[in-house]
Amino acid sequence: MSPAEAHREAAELRDRIGEYANAYYGRSQSLVSDAEYDELMSRLDSIEREFPEVQSQDSPTQRVGGGSDSNLFAPVVHLERLYSLDNVFAVDELTEWMAKTERDAGRSLRWLCELKIDGLALSMRYENGVLVQAATRGDGTTGEDVTENVALIPSIPQKLAGSGHPPVVEIRGEVFFRTVEFNDLNARQASMGEKTFANPRNAASGSLRQKAESKNERQLDLMHDRLSRLSLYVHGIGAWENPPVANQSEIYDLVKSWGMPVSPHWIVTDDAPGAVAFVERHGEHRHDIEHEIDGVVVKVDNLALHEQLGATSRAPRWAIAYKYPPEQVNTVLLDIVVGVGRTGRATPYAVMKPVTVAGSVVRQATLHNQDVVVQKGVLIGDTVVLRKAGDVIPEILGPVVELRNGSERTWAMPTECPECGARLAPAKDGDIDLRCPNTEHCPAQVRGRVEHIGSRGALDIEGLGEVTAAALTQPLVPTTPPLSSEAGLFDLTIDDLFPIEVSVKDAETGLPKLNEKSGEPVTQTPFRATVKKELVPSQDALKLIKGLEDAKSKDLWRFLVALNIRHVGPVAARALAAHFGSLAAIEAASPEELSAVDGVGAIIATSLVEWLAVEWHRDIVTRWRAAGVPFAITGHPGPGAAAEQIDGPLSGMTVVVTGTMPGFTRDGAEEAVRQAGGKISSSVSAKTSIVFVGEGAGSKETKARELGIRIVPAEEFAATLGL
Ligand code: NAD
Repeated sequence: MSPAEAHREAAELRDRIGEYANAYYGRSQSLVSDAEYDELMSRLDSIEREFPEVQSQDSPTQRVGGGSDSNLFAPVVHLERLYSLDNVFAVDELTEWMAKTERDAGRSLRWLCELKIDGLALSMRYENGVLVQAATRGDGTTGEDVTENVALIPSIPQKLAGSGHPPVVEIRGEVFFRTVEFNDLNARQASMGEKTFANPRNAASGSLRQKAESKNERQLDLMHDRLSRLSLYVHGIGAWENPPVANQSEIYDLVKSWGMPVSPHWIVTDDAPGAVAFVERHGEHRHDIEHEIDGVVVKVDNLALHEQLGATSRAPRWAIAYKYPPEQVNTVLLDIVVGVGRTGRATPYAVMKPVTVAGSVVRQATLHNQDVVVQKGVLIGDTVVLRKAGDVIPEILGPVVELRNGSERTWAMPTECPECGARLAPAKDGDIDLRCPNTEHCPAQVRGRVEHIGSRGALDIEGLGEVTAAALTQPLVPTTPPLSSEAGLFDLTIDDLFPIEVSVKDAETGLPKLNEKSGEPVTQTPFRATVKKELVPSQDALKLIKGLEDAKSKDLWRFLVALNIRHVGPVAARALAAHFGSLAAIEAASPEELSAVDGVGAIIATSLVEWLAVEWHRDIVTRWRAAGVPFAITGHPGPGAAAEQIDGPLSGMTVVVTGTMPGFTRDGAEEAVRQAGGKISSSVSAKTSIVFVGEGAGSKETKARELGIRIVPAEEFAATLGL
């Protein structure tokens, strides 16, 4: 890069960063994701380092905040400057920084590790224990006077508790929304047709920096409500003559005794492994914290060293922010397409420019139904904010309206099923969801049901998964698919499979791949293979036919699940199978007899009776029976006979399994409990005998504790079952 090019790029970067920073700090809006912003900053920083001549005092790399152009509030000059923080993005960068800081300090150090709260900084000046002024960080030297609004935040004391307070002290902290409050606030905003917030940080900033003037009574109520939901945790001090403590951690203890809110999530450690363990632990359990975090802050604990190490124009040299990978990114909404599931529900989902978020590439996200699309206000072509937190499914939060250029277009829910052309309609009046009424033959619904039949929770057929289900129900060749409904599943032969050709899907878009020259779809023949120049059935074809044959002798309850009867999952199916012993006995039973079975109940009984009344459903049973499915437990004495009791270490016990049991899948763990004589329950109640708790356990563990139920850790799972 030549100096001239460096000059040009640096100027462009400063302009862009300036625009984004103005929106972020001034209007509480993110025009780009934080990760993208950080990348631009780091690019500018590296150009400025390589070409010192392009550096300037007003570069965003050299200053705090965004030079907000807002003059909503009166300016407040801080008694002592507030700083931003320098960032690291990897563990070795963190340990390098710690080692360098120890070298600069000339001694080994103790480190305070705490969570980086995703909110905004507030400096509170207390004089003789009374809050006299509260100000935002602003550019670090001058902030905005938000004292009146801060008076409405319940957790910030107007008067400090205790006595002997310093004549003047600046206490600094982060103002934020707890996750529950944020979700509540957004739900409320949405229900009133108001704009929702993209993240708790923007919400906190927007809430704290509201002006009461020019608001009507209703708006004032809303403003007060939002302020009353804000929280604060102290994370430092500013001006304070002769603080009576030597370490930052002691400050926390002291201000806590004054009634200031202090985070419970911090540790002091002697070495880098201690800090790294803290970073890793919270990285894995990021969402167990009551508020959003975007990283961890590691600080030198000793206050005298803060003085000695000093600060750059932007950040202290005694602290660093370790930032976690972003969970919120911006991407482009390429299209909205409608998928039809096995129950016929038509669901719009977003097709996006692939983007990495929370460690995985995301290209699709459900939009649930047409009302949600309207609520979110997204147009095709919009830049959208996408969030994916940990294992949670990705969600589009909304468009970045400011980035529209006029080429975006609105989307409308189709009136017809995209797979079979039937007219979409709600199942009953008032339902928002639209469904395809062609239940028996809609290829999408048949495909979904066939896939379900092969799934682990139903018949668990090797070789019958998503791809095979699609090949059997929607092949390119033959044009009449071998399965127009699942009734013919057990009649399939190699001859039915052999001719099947399917289209190959593009990995990026999920759409059929086309041959570049001919424009014809690229095809595959999954059930054909060439051996010694001869076409023979493929391993997949043989596996599927054998899988179907073997499945016929599987347990009755699995067939009850495989019939795709609404609400009949493995728990109800097991109860029905154990009680009645055959499908014939279930068919003969009255709704009252069905609902009296433990684990069944009225809703399932009604659903079952309704299902059995439909002719094409009965046709499935007839054809599967004719193909050799017994639909009965051999030797079962008939309805009402006591279900087989297994004698084992858990006999007579009701058991809940929550979280992961090492060495077991979820189904496997539940099956093992049954084999040990236990009865599985999905929720904790006073009737529960034992709760096995593994990694990832959530509210069930808490409930068990509250009810005083025996809790057994996952490591003792196998031993307790006598395995
Ligand atoms: P920062 O948020 O990265 O870090 C400094 C701030 O962290 C402090 O001022 C303090 O308020 C806060 N903080 C939270 N917990 C803390 C703790 N325990 N101890 C000390 N401080 C704590 O820095 P910044 O200067 O406020 O903002 C820069 C960042 O903001 C960027 O890295 C980017 O992520 C984001 N940003 C995004 C956009 C956008 O358009 N998306 C624009 C500007 C800034």
